[in-house]
Amino acid sequence: KPGTAVQGTTQEEWLNRYGSSLMGVFGAPQRVLVRGSGCYVEDADGKQYLDLLGGIAVNSLGHAHPALVAAVSDQLAALGHVSNFFTSLPQVELAERLLALADAPHGSKVFFANSGAEANEAAFKLARRNSDPAAGRTRILALEGAFHGRTMGALALTAKPAYREPFEPLPGGVEHLPFGDVDALLAAVDETVAAVFLEPIQGEAGVRMLPEGYLQAAREATRAAGALLVIDEVQTGIGRTGKWFASEGVLPDAMTLAKGLGGGFPVGAMITFGERTSGLLAAGMHGTTFGGNPVAAAAALATLSVLETSEALAKVRATGDYLRRELAALDFVAEVRGEGLLIGIDLVDEVAPAVVAAALEAGYIINSTGPATLRLAPPLILTPEQAGTFLNALPGILHAARAQVAGAGPAPAAPTTPDSVSGATGTTTEGKP
Ligand code: PMP
Repeated sequence: KPGTAVQGTTQEEWLNRYGSSLMGVFGAPQRVLVRGSGCYVEDADGKQYLDLLGGIAVNSLGHAHPALVAAVSDQLAALGHVSNFFTSLPQVELAERLLALADAPHGSKVFFANSGAEANEAAFKLARRNSDPAAGRTRILALEGAFHGRTMGALALTAKPAYREPFEPLPGGVEHLPFGDVDALLAAVDETVAAVFLEPIQGEAGVRMLPEGYLQAAREATRAAGALLVIDEVQTGIGRTGKWFASEGVLPDAMTLAKGLGGGFPVGAMITFGERTSGLLAAGMHGTTFGGNPVAAAAALATLSVLETSEALAKVRATGDYLRRELAALDFVAEVRGEGLLIGIDLVDEVAPAVVAAALEAGYIINSTGPATLRLAPPLILTPEQAGTFLNALPGILHAARAQVAGAGPAPAAPTTPDSVSGATGTTTEGKP
C-alpha cells in the first residue's frame, strides 16, 4: 500500500531528512504527504486534509482517480517510453483530441513537453522564429504580473523582479505592459512586435482577470501587425474555469498547456494554430526526450475522458459560482475573483499567510499569492458538500488567523519560504510551483 514505508517514522523526522537532503528551493515544506483519495490527502502522521489547491491546479481529477490510475498503469504495462524516432498510439490520439478541443484549423500541430515552463520555452522559440531583426521585428510583449515559468526563456516572460534579478541577463527583447490596459496594448503592438504572451487569468498574480474584450483586442491587433498571439493556458486550461480553455472564442497562434492536462501526471503541450505558425519550428529545431511519452499521453487522455463525461465542466462552473458567492459574503473578505474553480480572495488585511497556516491546522489546504490574497484551485471533482465544509470552517479560520496576527510573534505553523513575500506574520507560498 502506498505510504506504508512511513510507518515508524514521524512526520517531523521526515521533514528533518528533507531539510538535510533536498535543495529546498520552495523553503521548508509544511507536511509530508503520503497518500490521497478524491479531494483528500493524508500526511505522515495520519492527518487528513481537504485539498483545495490540487497541487496548484494540477490534480484536476483529485487523487488516485481510478481512471487515471488504470490508464497510467495499463499504458506502462503495454509500452513505456520510446525514443523520439518513434511515436505511439496515445501520443497521436492526444494530439488529435487537443486540436479538436481547441477548435484548431487545418494545419495546426501539437508539440509535447513535460511542464508549463517547457511548453513556454517552445513558444518563446516560436516567437524568435517570427522575429526579423533586419526588418526591425524583435519585440516580445507580456504583461506586468505575468508568470510563465522559471527556466530562462520562460523567466524572461515572467514579470516578477524577485524571480528575475538573480539570473540576469535573461534572453532579451521582452517588455512588460501594464496589466489589462487595452490602450497600452494597442499603442505597443505594431510591426516591431514578434509575439504577445497573455494569460487569460493571471493565477500567480492573485487570480487577476483580463477585462472583457482584452483578448479579442489583442487578437485583432496582433493579426494586423503580423505578431503571434500566444495564450498561456497552463493554469487556466483543461476545465479549470469550467470551460476547456479560459480564452474560448479567441483563436491564438499558439497556446500552452500543462498542470491539469495530465490530471496530476506531468505533461505539457504547445498547440500551434494554422500552417504558417506550425511551420516555424521545422524538423531539427527543437525537442525534448520525454515530451509526449505514451504514459503521459495516456494520463492526459484519461483526464480528458473524465472531464468530458457527466456534466463535469458544468459542475465546475456551479461549484465555483457557489464558492464565490458564499466567500464574498464573509466578514474580512474584500473581493472574490475568478472563474470556475480558480478563485482569488482578497482579504481586508494582510493576514493571508496566517490564514493559510490556520487552514492547514484545521485540515484545509489553500495558498496565498500575496500578503492579503488567498487562492483556491481545488480538484475539478470538488463537490458542493466538500466546498460547504470549507465555507463553514473558514470564519473560524479567519478569526484564529487574525487573533494570532493581533497577538505577538509569528505563528508556529506559518510557512517560511525564502522565495516568497515576507510579512510580519510569516510568508506567502507565492509562485509555488
Ligand atoms: N504558466 C502559468 C500561467 C503558470 O501558472 C505556471 C505555473 N504556476 C507556469 C506557466 C509554469 O509551469 P511549470 O511549473 O509546470 O513549469
